[in-house]
Amino acid sequence: MNIAVIGSGMAGLATARILKDAGHNITIFEALPGRGMDSHSIAFENGLIDAPLRVMNPHLWQNTLSLATHLGIKAFPVRTFISCSWLFPDKTETWLTTSRTRIGNFPIINNRKGIKQYGWRLVKGMLQLKTAIQRFFKSKHQDISLAEFINNNDIEEVFWHGAVMPVLYTICTCDPKTIGQWPAKPLLVFLRQLTDGDALLRLHGGTPALVDKLIENIEIHSGAEITKVEEQGEHVLVENAQGEQFTFDRVVVATPTYKIENFLNNSQFADDIALLKKFRFEQGELVMHTDSSAMPPNRKDWSVLNYMMDRDFTRQQFTVWLNSIEPSLVGKTPVYQTWRPITEIDPKKVISTVTLTRAVVDADTVALNKELQLRHAAANRKVFYCGSWSCDGLPILESAVTSAMHIAEIFGAPVPFKGLKPEVEIAPQLGYH
Ligand SMILES: Cc1cc2nc3c(=O)[nH]c(=O)nc-3n(C[C@H](O)[C@H](O)[C@H](O)COP(=O)(O)OP(=O)(O)OC[C@H]3O[C@@H](n4cnc5c(N)ncnc54)[C@H](O)[C@@H]3O)c2cc1C
Repeated sequence: MNIAVIGSGMAGLATARILKDAGHNITIFEALPGRGMDSHSIAFENGLIDAPLRVMNPHLWQNTLSLATHLGIKAFPVRTFISCSWLFPDKTETWLTTSRTRIGNFPIINNRKGIKQYGWRLVKGMLQLKTAIQRFFKSKHQDISLAEFINNNDIEEVFWHGAVMPVLYTICTCDPKTIGQWPAKPLLVFLRQLTDGDALLRLHGGTPALVDKLIENIEIHSGAEITKVEEQGEHVLVENAQGEQFTFDRVVVATPTYKIENFLNNSQFADDIALLKKFRFEQGELVMHTDSSAMPPNRKDWSVLNYMMDRDFTRQQFTVWLNSIEPSLVGKTPVYQTWRPITEIDPKKVISTVTLTRAVVDADTVALNKELQLRHAAANRKVFYCGSWSCDGLPILESAVTSAMHIAEIFGAPVPFKGLKPEVEIAPQLGYH
């Protein structure tokens, strides 16, 4: 079949790869120049700034990592130590750093101040959380929001807001107000996996290496957004902003859904548009820069992930210290990536700023997805949808790949990578043993 894939994020590229390998003719359309998934990645002092930098847990990113393995891409472990600093009006004070531990191994506090001020509260909070998670997974009432979970359980405030929520922001990167509405289950599965403690992984060569393989021998038209998708008899017409028209047997839409009515024929797809518009998205700015004011004031407190928050936990930002997690940047000028900055970043030190869209999960997401998959099964259907938003879990790369696997099922395409274990090879530049 001739199939168009609209959007070249992880979902579109994985769909394109699977369907291409199953013998279909695939054409990808992308609004941005180049490939959507790595369009914001840039070179820095002969190294790579992956934007956004993505990390994966081997248990929670099984499909993504097995797809990478299938494509011959190895992974390397990264240590995701964290630091947390209070933003007071007159000063920034680091109150927690972790070391020799991964992102979720909260109890190992590295700095004396943290131990003295909060030590017992952090340990107590961690034990409370472990017990609460155990209770949750034994209970029959798992259909609750994160806010309800926290209301039902007594967990030390400084531990929950100061150490756990920042970790959740890394994965949800969403508004503190909306995170409470998230279903608790996928977030608790995530926390449980982290506290069980396998190292997080990144891919050798970063996102561009994965994209190169995903898109190999597939035609892509980029730099012009799709403006029209219209069924015409047995075919589907696709038109881009340059007025170019193409006809396909099937179309897979792999874009966020908030602007979907801009290109789907409004009367033909009225029901789909109404459903797809119910999925929620947020936007935020990711700033690549060399301004160390986004890092803890003392160099010894610098960690891979650095959180800053006000004492009321109403505003926070997180900064990734790229040199400590990207092999090609080791030994280069310190360079950072700050998501949704709330402190001022010196404009002279900004390398680039990109606006990123991310799906938000809420209590309705599971039901909406069920409805979408039902519609996908309708006879003679020609247009399908996928994306990281189309999942029951977290809107991460894994959900994007899983949604592509749902599309594969519809087309009867084999998924040869399912169940492959990641091939892990240490990145010597990072100096791990
Ligand atoms: C700061 C940040 C950090 C993250 N960290 C991680 C992480 O560590 N691990 C992880 O797994 N996930 C992470 N994520 C999430 C992950 O990046 C996303 O879940 C994933 O990239 C979404 O893929 P997608 O294919 O569903 O959508 P997208 O990546 O949004 O792809 C959709 C594509 O469609 C294109 N498009 C839109 N409209 C049109 C149109 N009309 N015509 C043509 N093309 C169009 C867009 O340009 C885009 O390229 C992070 C996200 C952010 C924002």
